[in-house]
Amino acid sequence: MIFTETRGNDGTRDARVSFSAALLSPIASFGGIYSPETMPALGPEFLAKHLPSSYKELALALLQHLDIDIETQILQQALDLYDRFDDATDPVPLVRLDEKLFVSELYHGPTRAFKDMALQPFGLILSALAQQQDQHYLILTATSGDTGPAALETFRDRANIRVVCLYPDGGTSDVQRLQMVTEAASNIKVIGIRGNFDDAQSALKSLLSSKTFNQRLGTLNISLSAANSVNFGRIIFQMLYQFHCYLALVRQQAIELGEQVVLHIPSGNFGNALGAYYAHRLGLPIAKIVIASNANNVLTEWIHTGRYDLSNRELVTTTSPAMDILKSSNVERVLFDLFGAVRTQDLMRQLDDQGYYQLEPQEHEQIKDIFAADFCSDEEGKHYIQQAFAKGYLVDPHTATCFKTCQSAQYRDQVNILYSTAEWTKFASVMDNAINGSEPASDQQALESVAAAAGIKVPETIADLFEKPIAHPDVVEKQAIESEILKFLEPGN
Ligand SMILES: *Cc1c(COP(=O)(O)O)cnc(C)c1O
Repeated sequence: MIFTETRGNDGTRDARVSFSAALLSPIASFGGIYSPETMPALGPEFLAKHLPSSYKELALALLQHLDIDIETQILQQALDLYDRFDDATDPVPLVRLDEKLFVSELYHGPTRAFKDMALQPFGLILSALAQQQDQHYLILTATSGDTGPAALETFRDRANIRVVCLYPDGGTSDVQRLQMVTEAASNIKVIGIRGNFDDAQSALKSLLSSKTFNQRLGTLNISLSAANSVNFGRIIFQMLYQFHCYLALVRQQAIELGEQVVLHIPSGNFGNALGAYYAHRLGLPIAKIVIASNANNVLTEWIHTGRYDLSNRELVTTTSPAMDILKSSNVERVLFDLFGAVRTQDLMRQLDDQGYYQLEPQEHEQIKDIFAADFCSDEEGKHYIQQAFAKGYLVDPHTATCFKTCQSAQYRDQVNILYSTAEWTKFASVMDNAINGSEPASDQQALESVAAAAGIKVPETIADLFEKPIAHPDVVEKQAIESEILKFLEPGN
């Protein structure tokens, strides 16, 4: 598979690169990103052939079909990390809620959110490539909660990789913060910032353009890479479970092989939805990909009207913080795939310059052919959490947004798959409020109170977090970040 740049080539770098090159250095010309040049359709026999395959067998067959420049042995080691999920024989369980409604639970990895699905194998591959090239990489991340823990978990103690993770102090759940600050490994640095997520992100941006910082990285012989979903090394692992859960439906005899299904995806940066889009392009029978949003409903507007408009929007904080995003990076890859690099550059420039773009009617039709969308307020989300709980199912506030989209009458006759992106434990306070009407004083209290109401125990991995020693106590002002990081990077550290 060859990768090319979504906004065209500026003449300073290769216009066509391999998978490993796109993974190590994910930023392309004109601020674009790398995308597959073509999607090699799977033959119709592929699905039938893999009906009996395990998750790992299916994943390996798909990766081999995509023909990426990573040795099979490394791919196998990367996929073996799914053995660490709750059930090694079924890392992504499919739960039946009613005759036509299924939940694909993507959160059974070590940090209890779907970020593990891609970051676990990605971390191993990045480290393997870095070692082969005898190069050292620094991964800088700013997180509002789920990416940070999953990135630390995958890169912990990996050779040739160091990770710095910035989080807004007070801007994550207690569980998410503890997952980060208790992560003790010599190649990891976690820093709390006085400010919100935007402050953390802008601190990261100014660091990336800081002269002293880049000079120091140069003398230490460290390159920068990125672990967010602009990196195709993550997206590729989000194409695989789409096939797995489709085949699970066939095995459970909920559908016939070849029958189309409707996917409902709680979306933020559009990585999960992009994986579904590519799966569709490869030939998976998907009738619609329904994009669920919270009150930050820019994607709903885009899909309904063809207008992507940031010009009079402010980010609002919601009870589904991993979806509090206005500029969804991976939409760009859909534009590129459908309309090409010239048009994508034009649209992204309009978005940067005037804060919006409007698709042409025939372009908008192409988007609506495959995507549909709706959004769910916090109040509605709370209602869906209660409703699911009354039926004995615990659903986190992100996944709850999909309970709204799948209400729509137009999908009633089809089989619907709803993607569940987090375990309830990560957002215990919201859960406790919805289920018990409480205003819990802490996540720890909320975890106990929800577990009691559900008649279960707080999962051990989560309960243990409150007992672990804090490895990263630092909370600093924005101005102090650069020196903190440089201290961490000095030889001997
Ligand atoms: C990251 C995340 C999302 C959003 O996924 P995207 O791929 O960025 O659209 C949704 N829910 C949870 C819990 C997440 O952690």
